[in-house]
Amino acid sequence: MTYDVINPATEKVVRTISLASEQEADEAIARASKAFETWRNVTPADRGRLLRRFADAVDAELENLAALEVENAGHTIGNARWEAGNVRDVLSYYSAAPERLFGKQIPVAGGIDVTFQEPLGVVGVIVPWNFPMPIAGWGFAPALAAGNTVVLKPAELTPLTAIRLGELALEAGLPPGVFEVVPGKGSVVGQRFVTHPAVRKVVFTGSTAVGKQIMAGCADQVKRVTLELGGKSANIVFADADLQKAAAQAPYGVFDNAGQDCCARSRILVERSAYDRFLELLEPAVKGFKVGDPSDPSTEMGPLISAAQLERVASYVENPAFQGTAPTGPGFWFPPTVLAPASERAVREEIFGPVVAVIPFDDEADALRIANDSEYGLSGSIWTRDVGRALRVGRGVEAGNLSVNSNSSVRYSTPFGGYKQSGLGRELGPDALDAFTETKNIFISTED
Ligand code: NAP
Ligand code: MG
Repeated sequence: MTYDVINPATEKVVRTISLASEQEADEAIARASKAFETWRNVTPADRGRLLRRFADAVDAELENLAALEVENAGHTIGNARWEAGNVRDVLSYYSAAPERLFGKQIPVAGGIDVTFQEPLGVVGVIVPWNFPMPIAGWGFAPALAAGNTVVLKPAELTPLTAIRLGELALEAGLPPGVFEVVPGKGSVVGQRFVTHPAVRKVVFTGSTAVGKQIMAGCADQVKRVTLELGGKSANIVFADADLQKAAAQAPYGVFDNAGQDCCARSRILVERSAYDRFLELLEPAVKGFKVGDPSDPSTEMGPLISAAQLERVASYVENPAFQGTAPTGPGFWFPPTVLAPASERAVREEIFGPVVAVIPFDDEADALRIANDSEYGLSGSIWTRDVGRALRVGRGVEAGNLSVNSNSSVRYSTPFGGYKQSGLGRELGPDALDAFTETKNIFISTED
């Protein structure tokens, strides 16, 4: 079965790829199972060295990978370079891990007790179309470092960079079968990762609806699962903040990647006394947001991923307060859009497009009430000059990743993941390795 990969900025076919059948998925899983027997016994130093070579191969190929993502996903070239660089950095970061997977020696009576961090086996990584490269890397880099082998399923819409990363792994010297890229349908290949008994863990990033199905499917074998799901994050602006800066930065916090970002700050909460002033400052920033040809380095926002996504996003927009501009077709373009006030549906649901609701609040308690009135809890920002308030409010927001006077969400060395229905478990940072290992405890008697 074949699939035409479309450039969302032009609607032209970029390449036709073949989609794996269930049998081909099983064959890839079998190769990964076999490779696990040797990969787990590669010395820690050699495993680290191979991952560093993989990182170097990504670095040498950075421009090509970025160009491929511009063509396949419509990402701006600036973003796409960051994304390829992020895969390199994540590989490089976890390349130090094999030699640092320390167990413990625990004081007990009658002997010596030691723990070991052991790999799980084959790990299935299922990736969405919105950030194909980084999200793949956050799964496969720590999984490989911990001694697992990986089968990776990219999203049907955006398989091209994943296919190239699979080739680069082999060129870097990773043994065949250690990192298998299996382009295919979620309902076929993704589903097989859930049901195949040799896949010991599934790392899933995508919608909350599919995440729930994955978790339910994994329950049958008590299969390990990490879930990174949707978001409806709050950008909380207090009247004492640098309003100019908060308003100038807010568009980047939600319109980046055309709003197709699980960390998008798609609700801006503004203290009532500063509400009108904030909207006045926001309007020129939104109208001046540069939307267009993603390969132009000055472009700030490209197209949406598909016609279906465009239709979905448009369904949320009625009577916008103001909008920026966007090209007309071909391509799946939608302008940056501000809703003030917004419908209940636009305030609650993840739109996954360049649409933001601006909502007034009265005081700290009111800000927290509104911010936490969501089934999601992934990310968010707090803008204030009062450091005590920043921490007080930050501790009160039910979300995994917050930033103060910043839109930043992701650093490869710090934990990333959601509260509530935004996910389960954490990726990145030192603790992510726990999610790719089992702890084994061995007691050795010292009694005569
Ligand atoms: P999706 O429909 O949930 O798909 C995600 C991945 O799962 C794709 O590779 C998809 O394959 C696969 N899949 C679909 N149905 C499956 C099934 N029954 N069994 C196994 N795999 C299955 O999400 P999407 O439409 O690609 O992405 C948008 C959503 O992802 C948004 O809600 C967004 O918030 C969320 N997201 C969250 C994060 C995060 O880190 N928290 C990051 C990115 C995206 P196909 O492509 O072949 O359908
Ligand atoms: Mg989908």
